[in-house]
Amino acid sequence: MTDYYQTLGISKSSSSDEIKKAYRKNALKYHPDKNPGDKEAEAQFKKISEAYEVLSDDNKRKLYDQYGEEGVKNAANMGGMGGGGFSSMEEALKTFMGAFGGARGGGGGSIFESFFGYDSEENSLRQGASKKISLSISFEEAIKGTEKQVAITNYISCDTCSGSGAKSSMDIKTCSTCQGSGQVFQTRGFFSMSSTCSQCRGEGKIITNPCPTCRGIGRIRKKQTVKIHIPAGVDNNMRLKMTGYGDTGEGGGPAGDLYVFITVTPHDSFERDGDDVYLKLPITFSEASLGCKKDIPTPEGKKYRITIPEGSQNDKAFRIRDLGFPNVHGSGRGDLLVIISVETPVNLSLKQKEILKNFQSLETDANHPKKKGFFDKVKSFFKGE
Ligand SMILES: [Zn+2]
Ligand SMILES: [Zn+2]
Repeated sequence: MTDYYQTLGISKSSSSDEIKKAYRKNALKYHPDKNPGDKEAEAQFKKISEAYEVLSDDNKRKLYDQYGEEGVKNAANMGGMGGGGFSSMEEALKTFMGAFGGARGGGGGSIFESFFGYDSEENSLRQGASKKISLSISFEEAIKGTEKQVAITNYISCDTCSGSGAKSSMDIKTCSTCQGSGQVFQTRGFFSMSSTCSQCRGEGKIITNPCPTCRGIGRIRKKQTVKIHIPAGVDNNMRLKMTGYGDTGEGGGPAGDLYVFITVTPHDSFERDGDDVYLKLPITFSEASLGCKKDIPTPEGKKYRITIPEGSQNDKAFRIRDLGFPNVHGSGRGDLLVIISVETPVNLSLKQKEILKNFQSLETDANHPKKKGFFDKVKSFFKGE
């Protein structure tokens, strides 16, 4: 006859919270996703799920306490609820989901995500540390996207022992003090208190012969080259998260993440504002007056011919659609804004001065509507004197 309490490694006086906790701990250990193809783990998973199914239900637990396994089964048969005992993995998994789902409001996402999240405080499933690195890329790399190889030193799962920490699978023994639950119970009068098992430090197992490579830790530190894909459109001070690229977790826990902080070195000519790019284009006074065509560089390093119409003023912006940065989240592209910067000619020769003076004598108010407007206003201001 099986003892459900013993199966879960708990005492007969355990509270429903303690039962749940013990089940969760065991279920994570023997979950088929964590032990692919392991028939023994599968059988154990069914066994603990069956025990939990009964002990987590007050009525069934009472029956079990009084009449044992048969009592529960008989009651189930009479009630038409199907026989006790889990013949299929499906039933065991259903129990498993019930024990984990409720705690997180039954939210969506994969079951693994939710139960790892839930149990991350447990010793036996500690998540590995997350890492942070800084990466500097050029303006050109930011607009086109790039790939970088970076060396980082991480804890990785030990190859020799597949992370178990033991020299061989024969060297892993269930902790006899806590029967594998990682918790020990002490009864003082009416109270039953649980604490982390000191024998196995809450791991539930004892390694009798540690793996020589990792000295029983299950992880080793190793320098690794990580390929980082940087998407086109990335901006200065953005952060990339590479899930699972941090340290491997302890005791089979999930790996931490790698955070890549991006710095984009500024460009000599282009200035970025969101997905738009600004380019200041110096042209001459005569080019601005007469109009001109100019070949300008695009942020991607191509050539683009822009037409500046005659009479273009200083600081005038020309917007060229879709020549800016691709949006890093995939929603379209920014524009290129070409800002005209009219350069007043310097170092004039005598001949140039003479021609300019001739030009000046021919200038009219119609050539400078802005100037005329300004002085008209000033004139009316002076009249008040
Ligand atoms: Zn123990
Ligand atoms: Zn090892």
